Amino acid sequence: MRKLATIQKVDEIKGIEGADFIQIARIKGWQCIIKKGEINAGDKVIYCEIDSFLPVVPQFEFLRKSSYKKLPTGEEGFRIRTMKMRKVLSQGLALPLSLFPEIPVDIGIDEDISELLNIKLYEPPIPACLSGIVKGNFPGYISKSDQERVQSLPNYFSDYKEIEFEQTEKIDGSSTTYYWYDEVFGVCSRNLELKETEENTQWKVAKELGIKESLDKLRKNVALQGELVGEGVNKNPLKIKGQEWHLFDVYDIDRKRYMTPEERRELIRLMDNPKIKHVPILNERIKIFEICNSMDTLLYYAEGRSRLNNNIEREGIVFKSNGLVDGQVLSFKVISNNYLLKHEE
Ligand code: AMP
Ligand code: MN
Repeated sequence: MRKLATIQKVDEIKGIEGADFIQIARIKGWQCIIKKGEINAGDKVIYCEIDSFLPVVPQFEFLRKSSYKKLPTGEEGFRIRTMKMRKVLSQGLALPLSLFPEIPVDIGIDEDISELLNIKLYEPPIPACLSGIVKGNFPGYISKSDQERVQSLPNYFSDYKEIEFEQTEKIDGSSTTYYWYDEVFGVCSRNLELKETEENTQWKVAKELGIKESLDKLRKNVALQGELVGEGVNKNPLKIKGQEWHLFDVYDIDRKRYMTPEERRELIRLMDNPKIKHVPILNERIKIFEICNSMDTLLYYAEGRSRLNNNIEREGIVFKSNGLVDGQVLSFKVISNNYLLKHEE
């Protein structure tokens, strides 16, 4: 699971012209706005990434006006999202350790404190036809789809200069997994396995595309992961007619790892099902950290139009290493800040 709230060291504090009460803190590859004087360079702080959902406790009350949300489940909290204040981008929340007596003062950098502070991942609510009827939890033998943000991985710029990646477009819909394991076919949303019903969109799409038949033919224990996009899904930012499913990853259940981009493309070739679409591949091999040697250049590189609809700005890009690094495919996302400012609410 991706870490949402961690202990971090502040790299730098900068002033904002004309602002008397706020400053900018640089933490890893992020910049966020803080209350002036509350934090100094070198301090250990709690840092919550964007998409954190914070509980209603006194320390977070100052966020009520900007960030309060009540989920369909009735749960209340504060959602951390990308913001601009005085024309300055702010992503995440940094607060002094001293506000949280439950955190030991000698705690290490990068330590995950999400559970300790009851901080969860904010996920946009999904309509009934997508949430479906739950059959059970997401199968434990498949990895849930997720991607780390490059801003949390600043060491990649120096460590992975030589690594070649596949670059795909990131599309903004709903993660859907179709798996075949020990002769059984199953359908999952991002977090749950879904019962087969007439109304459920993910099952309907599976039938239209003949996914079970393709997997029956392969007889391999795999999970096909893709993004469902289109009408009724996540406000359909790409303005797609009807619904489409675009594969972005294949999880090899027996080998307990994602397939490399090459293995994935070979599996797709074997399925030989022209109805199965793939997210747009923008580059099959690119040494991205040789081309973009700073966070700012990479963030700028992520911006552009979507290949699915040229009139619309893309959400961002996702990189997956062509080879294995420590036995796994290395992957991460770079989301367009422009897109976040327009679409996060
Ligand atoms: P986020 O949507 O910010 O939670 O980022 C991770 C999610 O992006 C994954 O769980 C996928 O559902 C989705 N996604 C969309 N396009 C891609 C892609 N090209 N590669 C990998 N994941 C993708
Ligand atoms: Mn998404």
